[in-house]
Amino acid sequence: AEQDYLDRTPRSAAAQARAARVLPGGNTRSSLWAAPYPLSITGGSGCRITDADGHEYVDFLGEFTAGIYGHTCSELEQALTEAHRGGFGLSSHTPYEAELAEELAARFPSIDLLRFANSGTEANIMALTAARLVTGRERIVVFAGGYHGGVLTFGSGNSPVNMPFEFAVLPYNDLRAAEREFTASGDRIAAVLVEPMQGAGGCVVGTPDFLQGLHSLCNESGALLIFDEVQTARMAPGGAQERLGITPDMTTLGKIFGGGLAFGAFGGSAAVMGRFDPSHPDAIPHAGTFNNNRLTMAAGLEAVRRHLTPEALQALFARGEAFREALNARFAARGGAFHVTGMGSIMNIHAVAEDAEVRRDRLRLLHLRMMERGYYFAPRGLIALSFPLGEAERAGFLDALDTVLAAGGANSE
Ligand code: PMP
Repeated sequence: AEQDYLDRTPRSAAAQARAARVLPGGNTRSSLWAAPYPLSITGGSGCRITDADGHEYVDFLGEFTAGIYGHTCSELEQALTEAHRGGFGLSSHTPYEAELAEELAARFPSIDLLRFANSGTEANIMALTAARLVTGRERIVVFAGGYHGGVLTFGSGNSPVNMPFEFAVLPYNDLRAAEREFTASGDRIAAVLVEPMQGAGGCVVGTPDFLQGLHSLCNESGALLIFDEVQTARMAPGGAQERLGITPDMTTLGKIFGGGLAFGAFGGSAAVMGRFDPSHPDAIPHAGTFNNNRLTMAAGLEAVRRHLTPEALQALFARGEAFREALNARFAARGGAFHVTGMGSIMNIHAVAEDAEVRRDRLRLLHLRMMERGYYFAPRGLIALSFPLGEAERAGFLDALDTVLAAGGANSE
C-alpha cells in the first residue's frame, strides 16, 4: 500500500521536497505532517478536493473541522467581496465586528461579553490569562490528551513548551482525580480548561458527570471553568454546553465562525470579560492588528446568519450521529478491527488491538486504501462532515470501506 502511495503521488513528493527547503517539515502546520509525506492538495470545490497529481477525493476531513462550508460558497464569496471592496484594514472597529459579537453572545449561554482573536490558540491563551488575573491564582487544570493549540498540547506529563503557565495535567473523564487535585490545591486553581469532547485527542466524549463535576468543583473553589468549544461549537447553536445543559464561566471559540478565515474568540460573564474594557482601572491589555479583520468579521457574520442556523446545525448533528453508527455497524460486521468514537458530525476511527504498533499499522493501511478509492480523511482517523457532503458521498464512503475490509485491506500489507 505504501509503494502504491509513492507511485501515484510523485508530485506531492516533489512539492514536499521543495517546501522542506524553506519550511521545516515542509509546511507550517505540524498536524498536517504524515510519513512519508502528506498529499499536496491543489484545489477544491464543494466537498471535493484534488491533489497535485490530479486525483480527486471526497473530503471527509473538512479542514480538521473548520471547513464546515466545503470549498466553495457563493454567499461567503460575496460577503468577502463586499467587505473587500468597502475597504479593509481601516484602523478602526467595524459594524461587522459588533454584529458578529451580538450573534455569538445571543447563542452561547456563558457569553455576555467576548473578544475576537486570530486563532483558537490565542483565544485559549487569553482566556487563561484572564482567569489568572481575575482570580489572582496561578494553577491551571488541563487534561491528558487535551489540545488547545500548538503550545497548549497535553500529553500525560508537563511539557517545556507549556510555559509560562503552571499546569496540572489530569486524566480526562476521571472526576475522582479532579476532586483530589481540588482538595490538595483548590485555593490555588485559577481555571479548569477542558474540551467537552477531546478532538485531537481522538474524539473522546466527555461524560456529563465528569463535566458537571468539574463545574461544581470550580463553583465551590472560585476557579473558572473554561470550555474550549473550538471544535464542539457546531454541536448546537449554543455549542456542546447547550446540549449538556452546563454553563461554564468562559468559552473559547474558533474555526467555523471565521467563515473560512482565521478566527478565534473568548468570552464569559460581564464580571470577568469587563476586565478587557480599557477604561477599567485594572484593564487587561488585549490588542491584535487582525483581531477584528474586516474580511473575517464579514465572512463570520454571513456564515453565522445564513449557514449556521439552528436547523442546519441540528441536521448536521443528526447526519453525523447516523454516519458514526453506520460506520460502527460496518466495522462490527467485518470483524471489529476498528471502532469509531465521536459526537455529531465529528468522529475518529480507531484501530482495535492490544499492541500500539499493530493499531498504527492497521489504521495507516485503512487510510491508504480509502485514499486509493478517493476518500480523504486524516491519517489519525479524524472525520468531520461538512454541509455539502451529501447522502451519496456518505453511502459511497461506506461501500468503499466494505470493499477495503472485505479484501482484508486492513489486516495485511
Ligand atoms: N482548541 C481545540 C479544541 C482545537 O481543536 C484547536 C485546533 N484544532 C484549537 C484549540 C486551536 O485552534 P487554532 O488552530 O485556530 O489555533
